[in-house]
Amino acid sequence: MKTVLILGSTGSIGKSTLEVLDLHKENFKCIGLSANKNFQALHEQANKYSVKNICIQDGSTSETDIEKNSDIKIYRGSDGQSEMIRDMDADIVVVGIAGAIGLEATHEAIKTGKRVLIANKEPLVMCGEFLLNEAKKYQSEIIPLDSEHSAIFQCLQGSSKDDVNKIILCCSGGPFWDKKIESFEKITVQDALNHPIWKMGEKISIDSSTLMNKSLEIIEASVLFGVDANKIDVVIHPQHIVHSMVEFKDGSILSNLSAPDMKASISYGLGFPKRLESGIERLSFSDLSLNFFEPDHKKFPTLDYAKKALSLGGNLPLILNSFNEVAVDLFLQEKINYLDIFQLISHAFDAKDSLDINIKFDTVDEILHLEALSKKQAKVYAERYTF
Ligand code: MG
Repeated sequence: MKTVLILGSTGSIGKSTLEVLDLHKENFKCIGLSANKNFQALHEQANKYSVKNICIQDGSTSETDIEKNSDIKIYRGSDGQSEMIRDMDADIVVVGIAGAIGLEATHEAIKTGKRVLIANKEPLVMCGEFLLNEAKKYQSEIIPLDSEHSAIFQCLQGSSKDDVNKIILCCSGGPFWDKKIESFEKITVQDALNHPIWKMGEKISIDSSTLMNKSLEIIEASVLFGVDANKIDVVIHPQHIVHSMVEFKDGSILSNLSAPDMKASISYGLGFPKRLESGIERLSFSDLSLNFFEPDHKKFPTLDYAKKALSLGGNLPLILNSFNEVAVDLFLQEKINYLDIFQLISHAFDAKDSLDINIKFDTVDEILHLEALSKKQAKVYAERYTF
């Protein structure tokens, strides 16, 4: 029996993980859940799946009557989450948190020296080298859950990195990839949240609409697979049946296909190297029509930001990520327009002169410190756009 801890359990990754685990009760047991704010949903999950340890991130939630009469142990805040990760010492930790806020938990999970399934791409973007070094030090096994990176991970099994010619990251394109740039001015928060394929949290939905999500994924892929950014291409594939591809030096291409359902990569990560039933819909090839398009870099300058950040090196990816988080947050609060998101993120490259891009990280605190400085800078630039 393998024990599993799910961080971000009320989000889409967390819910899908619980559904997969439910198919494998004889081999997996979920022993802990954590969520950001939604205490009621978290508590309901704990009851439904008989989980005895939960953590609510929002420290302001006070003890409720449900809690007093329950045998469920409740941890609070980010220190509580770290404590829960250490106490549980689960065989597998699933990190389904969104944003830079997941860094501490990802690091704590790596320190357990067990298998860590990472859907939370921002920490890998911010300080991938640091996290991979820590994983080596603590002998923790990192397996990506992001559908594209899970696909690449699967395609690379049994191959040497030296034989890789190119990684082709598939991109569903979000809701606006085929819209005219003139229409971007009028895009509302609701339009941007409306992803045609995936039902996800707000942050990643906005990132998908600006293609910043793909930009972050270029950095994520470069970090995880040790492949230079100029060997990573992006192709728009609206059906998102092909999750990504690897082209080898002999011209052969391996790809990973399935119905677009996160349960595919989650079950792969849980069972690796074995395959588990995932419960996803099966593909019928005669009903499929797959299309691929070149992305429009003029409409989505975000796509070039990853390669620019990687080529400038140092902590530019962290700064880029911070600027994006500030921009997305302001857009969600309706304080800036949709097009301002692109403008504001581009200032990450101006901010590098006032921030230390060459500092080598030894601790999470150092990373969080630079992140805080970087977000502060982003907010200064944001004053040009807010209304
Ligand atoms: Mg993805």
